[in-house]
Amino acid sequence: MAKYVLAEPIQYLKGVGPARADVLAQSGIKSYRDLLHYYPRRYLDHSSVSRVIHLQTEGETVTIIGTVRSVEVVAGRNRQRLEVLIRDDWNGHLKLIWFKGVKWIQKAFAPGYRIAFTGEVSRFGRSWSMVHPDFDRLDEGGPQLSTGRIMALYPGSARLQGVGLSSRSFRNIIYQLIKTRGLEFPHVLPEWVQQRYRLLDGRVALRAIHFPRSHEELEQARYRLKFEELFFLQLLLRYTKKKRAERTGIRLNGPGVRYRQFINEVLPFELTQGQNDALETIEQDMLSGYPMYRMLQGDVGCGKTVVAVAALILVVDSRFQGVFMAPTEVLAEQQYASLCKYLEPLGIRVGLLIGGQRKRVREQTLAEIASGQINIVAGTHAVFQEQVKFRNLALAVVDEQHRFGVEQRASLVAKGENPHVLLMSATPIPRSLSLTMYGDLSMTTIRDLPKGRKRIITKLLRESRRVQMEAIVLEQLRQGRQAYIVYPQVDESEKSDLKNAEAGFLAWRQLYQEDKVGLVHGRMKGQEKEAVMARFKSGEVQILVATTVIEVGVDAPEATVIVIEHAERFGLSQLHQLRGRVGRGRHQSYCILMAEWRQSRESKERLNVIERTTDGFEISEADLRLRGAGDLFGTRQSGLPELRIAEIPEDAPTLEKAQEAAKELWEQDPELALPQHQAMYTYFETFILARMEGYARTG
Ligand code: ADP
Ligand code: MG
Repeated sequence: MAKYVLAEPIQYLKGVGPARADVLAQSGIKSYRDLLHYYPRRYLDHSSVSRVIHLQTEGETVTIIGTVRSVEVVAGRNRQRLEVLIRDDWNGHLKLIWFKGVKWIQKAFAPGYRIAFTGEVSRFGRSWSMVHPDFDRLDEGGPQLSTGRIMALYPGSARLQGVGLSSRSFRNIIYQLIKTRGLEFPHVLPEWVQQRYRLLDGRVALRAIHFPRSHEELEQARYRLKFEELFFLQLLLRYTKKKRAERTGIRLNGPGVRYRQFINEVLPFELTQGQNDALETIEQDMLSGYPMYRMLQGDVGCGKTVVAVAALILVVDSRFQGVFMAPTEVLAEQQYASLCKYLEPLGIRVGLLIGGQRKRVREQTLAEIASGQINIVAGTHAVFQEQVKFRNLALAVVDEQHRFGVEQRASLVAKGENPHVLLMSATPIPRSLSLTMYGDLSMTTIRDLPKGRKRIITKLLRESRRVQMEAIVLEQLRQGRQAYIVYPQVDESEKSDLKNAEAGFLAWRQLYQEDKVGLVHGRMKGQEKEAVMARFKSGEVQILVATTVIEVGVDAPEATVIVIEHAERFGLSQLHQLRGRVGRGRHQSYCILMAEWRQSRESKERLNVIERTTDGFEISEADLRLRGAGDLFGTRQSGLPELRIAEIPEDAPTLEKAQEAAKELWEQDPELALPQHQAMYTYFETFILARMEGYARTG
């Protein structure tokens, strides 16, 4: 690649050098672009610094600037603490206290240093203090940069501090870069996009995000950079979709004998409208001659599995093979069982591939997959292994797709020649997120539930009402139904006083008939788990005490009550998934959340949401609001670039605009080859496409 200013290494910038360049590289900062996109964490506005003498309200978050008077490590009853005393410019004193990281934090202070502290203030008698404040040193060596009253503060880490990379050094280095090379920075957004959406010029935005002259300018810079980030993400998604569509896919024949037989004779129920529509769309995709890349979403219990099974039969009718991937062994086993139940009457052979199978069984299965004797494979990650070779794979179904990484999906797809891909997700994806993450795939949603389902009754009970919980469970058992009791951990060894599955197992054996209580958790061997699950499915075991291994997919229609111990410990979508284990048949079902009294505001909010609604879309919106998009829905492993400045869902309106712009651009210039888009394309190619190789191969 030709020399490109934004791609130049930072090492030769004044103030960097080899040692710092190494540490910066470890934090992902290698090129000029990385450095410019290392956005400030906060800004210090000198005009809004508080004075200690004016402090009034405890709990208020303020910034105070002062000079260090003393630094002291005080021996407490249990552990040491660090106390730093400062005096501000109006003669007020403030004490800063740390209980954690005392050793390395104390090195940051010495009498005479000038430092800005931000944090919540509290009062002891007549004096004010802050515990674990954020801080930044303001007077380190080198010339003082006076770029206005708003000063950028950068995210720091022990590692960066170790080589002296403070906020001040970042300001210095970035200042150097902008001063010496700023005029060479390319205009990465086309002129018309910039004008239409009233965006600040790109160069100005980069300067202003690091050295804002006013709050207004800073706001405009943030908006511009968020827009730019989301715009390129949209472009990437469209690009990937286009590349995929250019490939030739496997063209299946229409529905054959077995497909009809399945729908008309084997299935014990009628498909819902949503299931029928989804199936029709999938059929069209697979007859089109292009590779399908579709996401099937729908709430827990809406019946996605059956749709996938029908699609797999379509594949077999055309003499191809299919694979059905599950994230856990428990789920793979179960899918294997239900595939066998549906498919064997049709003369279709199903194989199972999971970890820890006996060598002979495994080798036999591998041989039969390679020869095509096995038509459909159910499996876990074990399917990705190199030795697994298909004769002619035409459809890969990936259940609970967010549990798989990009690389894994890519390796699966590589096992066929552009096979069709059907991704399934039990937790509905909020619209704002589906735009950013899934813009490149086709989306189908099942919105209805099978007839006759009753709304699950959810109750939040405190420890003092344990007896009531037990009574509800026992009553269900007496009526011949089954129960799940879920714990956050397996046993006592994990140093904490949480209730655990092993103790729960013993307790329920005392409360009910011993031989009707089963235990399943992640530390058991595959075969042991299998045996317990089989006994639960057959009804022999009535109470299944478990950890979250049963979280996804497990299907036992006679189970009508699930108790979740320490419900405050679980995430929202996890609670929703767990609750989805009941209410799968005709009977009224119950979900009982056992929770501690004392809990954080966030976990209270979570429990309230779960108690109030069973609508998966509402729950996932709430989850997104409470947790942010971070590790939710597998954003991290999606393989897409991480968002550095835009935030979802907060920036959803900006996202919609960016999407609109990307769409228009694409319509004008589908090859991205017009001269006025040259700079944009170079940037896109250098920084976005080049890093997205793995992603582009996923389908
Ligand atoms: P999910 O979408 O959560 O994966 P499943 O495919 O596991 O849901 O289906 C949940 C339950 O509903 C299963 O027991 C399945 O047999 C049953 N089911 C699926 N479709 C229908 C239908 N159309 N009518 C009645 N029951 C159905
Ligand atoms: Mg499922």
